[in-house]
Amino acid sequence: MGFAPTSLDRPEEHLTISDGVTYEVCMRSRLAALGLDAIAGKLDAGVRLSFDDGVALFRCPDTLALGWLANREREKRHGARTYYNFNIRLEATNVCVASCLFCSFARLRPGDPGSYTLSLEQTWDKLRQRAGQPLTEVHVVNGLHPDLPFSYYTEMLRGLKQIRPEIHLKCFTAVEIAFFADIYGRTDEQVLLELQEAGLDSLPGGGAEIFAERVRKKICDDKCGADRYLAIHRIAHRLGMRTNVTMLYGHIETLEERIDHMLRARALQDETGGMQAFIPLAFHPDNNQMRKLPAPSAIETLRVHAVSRLMLDNVPHIKAFWIATGVETAQLALWFGADDLDGTVQEEHIYHMAGSKTPEGMTTSTIRRLIKSAGREPYERDTLYNVITGPDADLQTVERAS
Ligand code: SF4
Repeated sequence: MGFAPTSLDRPEEHLTISDGVTYEVCMRSRLAALGLDAIAGKLDAGVRLSFDDGVALFRCPDTLALGWLANREREKRHGARTYYNFNIRLEATNVCVASCLFCSFARLRPGDPGSYTLSLEQTWDKLRQRAGQPLTEVHVVNGLHPDLPFSYYTEMLRGLKQIRPEIHLKCFTAVEIAFFADIYGRTDEQVLLELQEAGLDSLPGGGAEIFAERVRKKICDDKCGADRYLAIHRIAHRLGMRTNVTMLYGHIETLEERIDHMLRARALQDETGGMQAFIPLAFHPDNNQMRKLPAPSAIETLRVHAVSRLMLDNVPHIKAFWIATGVETAQLALWFGADDLDGTVQEEHIYHMAGSKTPEGMTTSTIRRLIKSAGREPYERDTLYNVITGPDADLQTVERAS
């Protein structure tokens, strides 16, 4: 798993601004003026940042200084590499018994206007229709449907694997796993084991929102809490699966609650090492009960990605999920700590029902062009970050596969 980072010459560090004064010297005096020289010193020495450091970073008004620090950490790990994958998204039902205030996707009952539940054949057709494409991942995430049998999910996985045995199935958030355990009378571990037996390979990171109880009580009180979310990831790691962790930002959370969220994820990663990526997700206000709040700005998005990179020293990847950030901001985030753009996606409902103006999918050649035009090197990866195609891949070959 993984490659050695590309070594970068970092020409800007050696830029001479005036007699003997390099770009790096300028940035360091800027950081000192901002009171961030101690944090910069810790990062130089590989010393882990504290809760207070994280809050200080969020309070720093100089976004470019923050980005400079985060980019150094990004480049230490990955150089110019930027990862993406060739995946499809499958949201089999939007019927959901929970009522998260930020959610525009869910419908409470089957038959409610706008509700849908795909038959198993329809879910399998989504994959059959892409028979000629070299997809590597199916990402499945659903509402919490009260009436479907557990076999709906296990059969879905079995059918997908039968169609494409080599495909990686990244399916069901920890919130869904907890829900399955509660309604089907199993433990969280039994649910994971049965799903794994049916073909589950890893868990996506959705459902984390903000771990702080104050926020969860207000925005998502009727789904599994932070401790259980993290416990399910812990079990998944023990069973040999990899997972991601998300953070929904830009609504009612405080800066301190964001840092608390990151530190809880970091603590789990210290224990298990099973987390591959941390994914900040921007709150989108359309068509949900929090529509009076503004969406986070692009600057806020860049700052959250930067602080995530700086705080999560033990998580390999910070992902800028372009569907959530917007395409242009995702490109910028590649200089603010992020090293991954997620994938081609193809069909996405959760963010688009909340007002996302991004395309619903991209071809691999479009993603590669976006990465290159941001001054980074595109690497197609599989779900486990094994590299499939490097930056020099013949673009025509990539285009034919899209
Ligand atoms: S965020 Fe998930 S759990 Fe919450 S209402 Fe929407 S679909 Fe249901």
